[in-house]
Amino acid sequence: MPKTSGFEHMLREASLRVTKARLAGRAAVHGHPHADTDSVIGDVRGDLPEVSRQAVYDVLRVLTDAGLLRRIQPAGSVARYEARVGDNHHHVVCRSCGVIADADCAVGETPCLVASHDHGFMIDEAEVVYWGLCPACSTATST
Ligand SMILES: [Zn+2]
Ligand SMILES: [Zn+2]
Repeated sequence: MPKTSGFEHMLREASLRVTKARLAGRAAVHGHPHADTDSVIGDVRGDLPEVSRQAVYDVLRVLTDAGLLRRIQPAGSVARYEARVGDNHHHVVCRSCGVIADADCAVGETPCLVASHDHGFMIDEAEVVYWGLCPACSTATST
């Protein structure tokens, strides 16, 4: 799989050892964007029962710290992980069922919003969450 070898390369670039748990953790997040910790653990341990829950927690933390995974946590939600990193995309979250989808950055640059007063900070990220109702939930309320 070219995706896997590409990720092995990314691990080495980040000076991280290539381990089965890291490959499986990243593959699980890649296959299920915005998965929560428990579903990642379930996915990894479905394939590799010898990997402990704690090991999967560690994989998520290490890969997030290295910028190889992105962690998002909309208000009222548990932490979610995704493999789409480095593009400053945003999220739409359903108020009713909590489903999350990607929304591309409005202007295509980081940060996509210019703070009216930056307090002297060097701003490099704008975290935007759009809230609303997903198509399934808005259909359910209107009928
Ligand atoms: Zn919904
Ligand atoms: Zn996303």
